Amino acid sequence: MNMHDSEVMAGILENIGYVAAENKEQADVLLINTCCVRETAENKIFGLMGKLRKLKYEKPSLIIGIGGCMTQQEKVAEKIKTRFPFIDLIYGTENYHRLAELLKTAQGSQKTVLELSHQINPVIEGLPIKRASGFRAWVVVTYGCNNYCTYCIVPYVRRSERSRQPAHIILEVKDLVAHGYREITLLGQNVNSYGKDLEQPLDFAGLLAEVNKISGLDRIRFITSHPRDFNKRLIETISSCEKICEHIHLPVQAGSNHILKKMNRGYTREHFINLVESIRQSIPGVSITTDIMIGFPGESDKDFQDTLDLIEKIRFDSAFTFIYSQRRGTPAATMEGQLPDYVKSERIKVLIDIQNKISKEINLQEVGKKRWLLVEGTSKTNKKLLSGRTRSNKTVIFPGPHFLNGKIVEVEITEGKLTHLAGKWLDNYY
Ligand code: SAH
Ligand code: SF4
Repeated sequence: MNMHDSEVMAGILENIGYVAAENKEQADVLLINTCCVRETAENKIFGLMGKLRKLKYEKPSLIIGIGGCMTQQEKVAEKIKTRFPFIDLIYGTENYHRLAELLKTAQGSQKTVLELSHQINPVIEGLPIKRASGFRAWVVVTYGCNNYCTYCIVPYVRRSERSRQPAHIILEVKDLVAHGYREITLLGQNVNSYGKDLEQPLDFAGLLAEVNKISGLDRIRFITSHPRDFNKRLIETISSCEKICEHIHLPVQAGSNHILKKMNRGYTREHFINLVESIRQSIPGVSITTDIMIGFPGESDKDFQDTLDLIEKIRFDSAFTFIYSQRRGTPAATMEGQLPDYVKSERIKVLIDIQNKISKEINLQEVGKKRWLLVEGTSKTNKKLLSGRTRSNKTVIFPGPHFLNGKIVEVEITEGKLTHLAGKWLDNYY
């Protein structure tokens, strides 16, 4: 969601005549888009701002703005204003649509301009977007989140859930297809609860079915799915719509019922296991990835073992692993039983080792299989190789001519590594 927000900010800048600079030394305007989900992300931003001070001294006309989730927290915004007075503009998550005006005000002001919206905006349509890719695009379906998982700051900084009108979503996707886009990813903190606030009800399964009808579109993805709201109708829709890719990101967070309850996740480990079983039965070849957190307050050795046991049982294709980070204002921040750092570091190491072993084993099973990839460009580590993604969201690198960029190509998998696969192009593409 943050990456997409950056595309919107870049779109707004381009709309008022700016072009992308090669590097920050050349830039006239620098905007920093922030995340506050974990403390480490916030610390990185503070570190970066220290470095930007020098840049501003060397080029006083440079306008530096900082916005996003982190600055939506009033106390943090005030702290930045005091500690880094050279920052020209501070804005929150609900102020992006006013960015052009805010920049103008900041350019004419000697003081830091600070604007945080305290009201929740209705969905704002029609903002310009400068997309990073020419053939894959993110399309927002819901803003905000109503779940209030007890560790999570997102509902406080992204505010309550608002669904976009289906007609606006469909129009955006059709326009993308007309401009050559082949894959779209529907975005929301919890896409499965899409539509609950619409006057004319349409649920996420209904929306997916509508998007699936758009001719010229090749692939549909979506993130993130909440296990509590993943119903049978949705599974059936995914299984019957040919454009929907066989990949589901299904954050489990923990394998212990005691911790899941304290997290306010709204499901049990048994529900999760049954859900994965139904998904795997109905959607052949589906890959399932997850987010897992360790070190939640009160997590005992037994709770941690339950999480390990769950990941061994489920065998996720891959997982984002997180060390619990105390976020001010969330219920978990003041819960008893906060764990010391050394326990968290030990647990995350054990978790990552087990998950890596599973991911590697699953990737090795891909060797010899034929897969269709959407080619996304050259490999980040080797510019001579192309990189693409299977429908199951696995990255495959392979040698091939550059005109394949943006094409859907067939490869045979030759190697299975921890984070990606290697393949051989089979001369087919469209
Ligand atoms: N809405 C999505 C993503 C939320 S943020 C979802 O519910 O899955 C992405 C991930 O960050 C979460 O899944 C969670 O694992 C992690 N996360 C959120 N708050 C955190 C915290 N306080 N400490 C550590 N990890 C956190
Ligand atoms: Fe945070 Fe939970 Fe909402 Fe995800 S569903 S954004 S983890 S509150």
